[in-house]
Parts: sequence; structure tokens; C-alpha cells
Amino acid sequence: MKHINVALFVPHEGCPQQCVFCNQRHISGKTARLSAKNIDEAVSAAGDAWAGTDDKREIAFFGGSFTAIDRDYMLELLQAAHPYIDGKRFTGIRISTRPDAIDPEICRLLKQYGVTAIELGAQSRSDSVLAMNRRGHTAQDVVDASAFIKTHGFELGLQMMTGMYGSSPEDCLLTARKIVALKPKTVRIYPTVVLRGTHLEQLTATGEYHPQTLEEAIPLCAELLKIFFGSGIDVIRLGLHSGGGVEEGYLAGPYHPAFRELCDATIYLERARQALHDSIPEGGQATLCVTQNGVSQMTGHKRENLAILESEGYRCKVRPCPGLKKYQVTVML
Ligand code: SF4
Repeated sequence: MKHINVALFVPHEGCPQQCVFCNQRHISGKTARLSAKNIDEAVSAAGDAWAGTDDKREIAFFGGSFTAIDRDYMLELLQAAHPYIDGKRFTGIRISTRPDAIDPEICRLLKQYGVTAIELGAQSRSDSVLAMNRRGHTAQDVVDASAFIKTHGFELGLQMMTGMYGSSPEDCLLTARKIVALKPKTVRIYPTVVLRGTHLEQLTATGEYHPQTLEEAIPLCAELLKIFFGSGIDVIRLGLHSGGGVEEGYLAGPYHPAFRELCDATIYLERARQALHDSIPEGGQATLCVTQNGVSQMTGHKRENLAILESEGYRCKVRPCPGLKKYQVTVML
């Protein structure tokens, strides 16, 4: 079953302050305020096209703190979306919000309007990192809100960041383990990127913040992918979406339009090295067997993985083989 959604952006709506890294107008490429008419236009065509498929089909509100939006405006958005949640066109509404803007009353209201999944910006398990990034909530808020969300029968999604101001790779690994303990259904991982119009832009200019490089962020995020994959948690996003306004707003940091593929390729390279070393430690020719979807990730961006293996004494081909799992690599001699 595929998971598809119509993404609607409410940039910074409901946010009590601006987190140091965030500029939703660049991230989403949207500046105008979303209206009920916009919702109608965006979802009606998609709903008709998708009607009756087996896919999970959602209307998604992203880019702000949905449950902290002025109540009348929030209800206007939900009332516009709700008629489409009829099981035929759409199966539910997905929202993203802040961990300190969830309580039993709002959960009951969301349920009434067909919201089925709630994503929280958890970002870090460290209160000092959260404070330095002007998040305005604590790590305990994430724990409490996650429990509320699950108790009220919503699908829980958690979002985390890497390379935040004041954080370390160890913090990020610990954040991932804390997230696993909360048992979300989905996770999104966003490496911190310096965008125009953010406080992080100033911190970078004064040398108080040093963004991660791609070379630092990729192995770290590959480790995070392994943690979540090993725990059966679906990572539904890794890295900022390309398009929108990210390219225009980008100043520094680990942004790449194919960031996820680069991380997947890193895992495949590591697994291939291990499998080759176990099978032919002296080097030689081999065929690497992976899943159908894993062929391009095993091969690597611009065939980089195969070039690296060749430089290490292994001349490899890659082919899809049945019965394998994601990230599994076996060697055929
Ligand atoms: S990260 Fe979330 S809470 Fe912070 S400013 Fe951006 S949308 Fe608002």
C-alpha cells in the first residue's frame, strides 16, 4: 500500500516564535495564506484521480503549528478538508504541530474532523539544544504529547533534526534512540540547513554556528536510518524537499536534492564491503545481489560505490535478486 498526500502549507501559522533554523516560506515556497478555496481546488482534482485505490490517501497540513493556529482559522481549514474524508477520495487528514500544543481537548476536536495522523517536531532530546534553537518546549513535552496522541488513537509521527545549533552527532544518535522508545509509526529527519532570513544566518555569519558538511551529515543520517529501520519505524522523509523555495533560500549546510539516496548508498556500500570481505577477503570479481529498489542505491550516485569498491580490489556488478530485504547484500561469485 502506497502512502500519498496532498500537501497544503500553513507557513508559520500558530508558531509562537521563529525557531532559529526555520523559514517556512523558503522551505515550502508558499507565502500566501491558505484559504478554504485553495483547499477545495487542491484536493478536489487529486481526490477524484485517486478515488478507489488501495493507497493511504491523506490531506496534509504542514509548515506551521497546526493545533496552535487561531481557533477560528484552524476550524475553517478543517471544515474545508473534512468533506473529502469519505474513505473513497481521502482516508484521513495529517497535521504537523508543536509538542506543547497538544492536549486532550484538541485531540478530541481533531478526531471529530477526520484527522488520523499527527506529526510532532521533536527535533532534539536535549533541553539545552531545544533552548538554543528557540524551540520554546522541552524534551518532556515530546514524551507527553506522544502519549496523548497515541492514547487518542492517532498515528504518531516524529520529526528530528541533525546538526542543530549546539548539538553533536552523539546528541542526534541519542535523540533517535529516545524517539524509538516512543514508538512512532513514522519519522522525518531534517539535517539543519542555513536559510536566508533566519537567526541561524546571523549565527553562521558571526562564526557561532558551523553548519555540517554533506560529508559529515551523510554518515550520521545513514546511522539514523539504520536505527529506525532496525526498529521497524518508517522514515518517510530524509532531507528538505527540493523545489519549493529551498534553493533560493539556501545559504549553507548539508542540502542535496538526492540526500536520502546518498544516505541509502552509504549503507549499501558498508553492507557490500562486509559481504565481500566475508566471501572473498583477497579481492576479485563478484555480483552483488540486492532488492529491485536497492540496485541504484548499491551502485551509488554516479556509480560511486562501484568505483570505491574497485579501488579496494573488488570489481562488482549489481543485480536484483528475489527474497532479499532492504539493505541486505549478498555476494554471488
Ligand atoms: S520549526 Fe515549526 S514551530 Fe519552529 S518556526 Fe518552524 S514551523 Fe514554527
